[in-house]
Amino acid sequence: MIEHPISLFLDEILEHMKEYQDEIENAQTLFENVFKYSQAKSSKSRSRQALILKQYGGEKELRKVCLNCCNKLNRIKKSISESNQKLEELLTHKTLKCYTCRGQGSFTKPLYVRERGSLRQSTIQVVDCPECDGRGKVSFNINLESEVIIKQFFEFVKYFDSIFDCTITCMRNLIKALGGDNA
Ligand SMILES: [Zn+2]
Repeated sequence: MIEHPISLFLDEILEHMKEYQDEIENAQTLFENVFKYSQAKSSKSRSRQALILKQYGGEKELRKVCLNCCNKLNRIKKSISESNQKLEELLTHKTLKCYTCRGQGSFTKPLYVRERGSLRQSTIQVVDCPECDGRGKVSFNINLESEVIIKQFFEFVKYFDSIFDCTITCMRNLIKALGGDNA
C-alpha cells in the first residue's frame, strides 16, 4: 500500500519534534549549570566554579555550548515551520508534486531512426507524464476525519512554536549573562 502523502509530512514534523525534545534536554542542563556557575561566581567559590567549568573547558567554552544549543533550536524551529507550511499547502490545494516526473509534467526521450540497417538518434521526443497527464501534480483525497486530526495537529505545532520562542529567549539571556552580547 502506498503511504498517503500527508502522513509523510506528518512523519517529517514528528521527526523534527523528536530532535527538539533531545535539544531541550540539553538546554535544561545548560540552564542549570549556568545558574549554578553564576551562584558560585557571586559567592566567589573558585572550587565550585572550576567544578562546573571542568566539563566544558572554561567559561568561554560554556558560552559557546550555549550558543550552539541556541542555534540548533533555531534550526529545528525553522524546519518544523517549513514542514508545517508544506502540510498546510497540501491541505489547501489537495495536490502534490508528481513523483514520477518530479513535477516536470513530461519526459524527454531520444527518438531513433533506422538508417542503412543501424539505429541513429535523430531527435529528442517530449512525452507527457502518464501519471499526472502532463500537469506535474497529482490530486489526492483526504477524508474528513483525517482532516480534523491534521487541523488539531496544526494547533499543537503552534503551541510548540511558542515554547520554542520562550526557550530560545531564555538561552539568549543565559549567553548574555555569561558575558557577551552577540547572541
Ligand atoms: Zn507526472
